[in-house]
Amino acid sequence: MIRPLIKGLELTLKHFFSPAVTVQYPEERWEPYPRYRARHIMYQRQDGRPKCVVCMLCATVCPAQCIRIIGIQDEKGDQYPQTYEIDLGRCIFCGFCVEACPVNAIGMTTHYELDGETREALILDLEKIMKPPK
Ligand code: SF4
Ligand code: SF4
Repeated sequence: MIRPLIKGLELTLKHFFSPAVTVQYPEERWEPYPRYRARHIMYQRQDGRPKCVVCMLCATVCPAQCIRIIGIQDEKGDQYPQTYEIDLGRCIFCGFCVEACPVNAIGMTTHYELDGETREALILDLEKIMKPPK
């Protein structure tokens, strides 16, 4: 009867004197690991247009089906997205879209502060995704 009590007390005391793993957010910020997967980014071509060639592989492979793309073609026949949206409210940050992209057009940053007061605010459109997160 007393043995489990001492064991429990021993464990409590051990954790009581060990360093804290929590941080006082937002005053203190957690530094994510370099391979941490958070907000997406769309890379640009030399002319400033999105690097995406509208192959639809990312949207096809996405398990949450949260990528919406509408493509257009320029006069040379090059395709690029007119609309490219990722609904971060549904995304599970698996990184499959990044893995699937044949032209390395999208990546994932370590920016984890994703918030919004409406569901629409969590949609990452082309304008937002092309800018590096602050
Ligand atoms: S990280 Fe995963 S869930 Fe999120 S958009 Fe990419 S494929 Fe979809
Ligand atoms: S896989 Fe890459 S190139 Fe293809 S639609 Fe997605 S972002 Fe664009």
